[in-house]
Amino acid sequence: MLTDQVLVFDLDATLYNVGSRIEDLVDAKVIKFFMRELQVTEDQAKEIIRNIRQKYAYDVEASGKEFTFSKKEFMDYICDVDTSCIPQNKELSAKLARIPQRKFIMTDSTREHVFDVLAALGVSADNFAGIFDCDDMQYTFKHNPESFKIFLNKYHLKAGECIMFEDSIGNLEIAKQVGFTTVLINSCSTVVPAFCDYQFATINLALDYFCDNPQK
Ligand SMILES: [Mg+2]
Repeated sequence: MLTDQVLVFDLDATLYNVGSRIEDLVDAKVIKFFMRELQVTEDQAKEIIRNIRQKYAYDVEASGKEFTFSKKEFMDYICDVDTSCIPQNKELSAKLARIPQRKFIMTDSTREHVFDVLAALGVSADNFAGIFDCDDMQYTFKHNPESFKIFLNKYHLKAGECIMFEDSIGNLEIAKQVGFTTVLINSCSTVVPAFCDYQFATINLALDYFCDNPQK
């Protein structure tokens, strides 16, 4: 399998698993952003966010519609969080270095956040042929097939040669529609939908499987 395939990794909750700790830090930054941007109290900011979340899949989608702040400004601010709760993963670092095939990171987060997470994990960014972030996908995000098309065009890849490693079932559904092979990284014993070709509890176990089964 690996000889002619391209490995595409989501970042958050895929390359590491620290429960909701990073998500909680991002959420706190969202509140701070609105407090600062709109000069409102914490309670007022939370109310504004509640309203936004009733209308949009992502908070950032309110940019340009409800508010004048730019999507870049918003994402840069909320993704700038302390990643020190992410433990080193030497095993992952060694496995990635051993896999000769092209590897990419495709994330709804920012490039700076990718570098912070990789530094915490102890994984070199040099392992990856490309890091594709929310700005690269023009803020379409992975719930939109367009983000995958922009990714494939940028790196001159075909969907059929790409394997997506992801913790989000929703994102994997879109990846499958676009033509990717799909690998769900999820430690919960949930019912795995048919569009997930494989499921593993951790990224280390997933890479063990693909590295040890070259016929797959
Ligand atoms: Mg994720």
